Amino acid sequence: METLGVLLTFPMNPYLEEELDRRCNLFRLWESPPESRREFLRAHAGSIRAVVGNATCGADADTIDALPKLEIISSFSVGLDKIDLEKCRQRGIRVTNTPDVLTEDTADLAIGLAISVLRRIPQADRYVRSGSWKSKGDYKLTNKFSGKTVGIIGLGRIGMAVAKRAEAFDCPISYHSRSEKPGTNYKYYSTVVDLAANSQVLIVACALTPETRHIVNREVMDALGPKGVLINIGRGPHVDEAELVKALVEGRLGGAGIDVFEQEPHVPEELFGLENVVLLPHVGSGTVETRKEMADLVLGNLEAHCTNKPLLTPVI
Ligand code: NAP
Repeated sequence: METLGVLLTFPMNPYLEEELDRRCNLFRLWESPPESRREFLRAHAGSIRAVVGNATCGADADTIDALPKLEIISSFSVGLDKIDLEKCRQRGIRVTNTPDVLTEDTADLAIGLAISVLRRIPQADRYVRSGSWKSKGDYKLTNKFSGKTVGIIGLGRIGMAVAKRAEAFDCPISYHSRSEKPGTNYKYYSTVVDLAANSQVLIVACALTPETRHIVNREVMDALGPKGVLINIGRGPHVDEAELVKALVEGRLGGAGIDVFEQEPHVPEELFGLENVVLLPHVGSGTVETRKEMADLVLGNLEAHCTNKPLLTPVI
């Protein structure tokens, strides 16, 4: 792979960066300031044959257009929403992602968020640390997670793993996807509003596409209701964030556990003061073990491409 020119779009993982640096001809996009990136790409366009991006910075139409020698985009993410897939198809550019290896961590986090919101784990922790337990007495009662009806938007790899975990908590499971999945006993709803109206905890686990942008809108939040909890471990734009803030502030929604936001790393400050909200900085797959496996998949796909072997996790 020594001759493979690779554009790394973001400082996403030290091990991946070291290995790419050792095995390829590495170009770090973020080292050039945003205003001179076009120039940077133009200067190295003759050498760059691969792009490694992630959920923060992938390969949009401009980047792909600027790289006439581009052969492969190997994404350090399972989500493909930061890649212009149509352009890749037109240009015959191969695309890979990192499915499966991050499923367990992301599903674990969804359940962790649901329990954190309902049982107020971060708030109770702050209660202890601030000395309030001593000065004010016992912490207030919270709400139960076990047995709550759980609705899942997107019963894919992560959605199924969430369902499996929630089943162990005796939660009845239902879901919405574009089509009913054969071979599950989970109840299918053909609309998200109906799913929300019949769920106490609604978990977003679908892919981000133009169709799923704001799939959780005001109507869905109102259907979930003042006792309902929304968990988003998909992508920020799945949820209409302005409406989410309003629904929480006005008490029309019971609570929310959010790992992903519309304009990361910007989080609406109105959420900071709310007791019924748990906020995470997009850490769904963020464990040492999983990030290493994701990095190895990225490297394996590039290696396969360079040696004309079948790609490990091809998308295109
Ligand atoms: P997956 O197996 O491809 O599942 C995606 C699901 O989305 C499918 O079940 C699909 O169901 C559903 N879907 C697609 N379009 C839909 C639509 N219009 N309406 C309803 N459902 C729709 O992917 P995965 O591995 O489970 O990952 C899912 C997503 O999780 C990723 O795309 C990524 O954005 C996100 N993610 C986030 C983190 C994090 O750090 N928070 C980590 C990993 C992944 P149908 O085809 O039946 O519609």
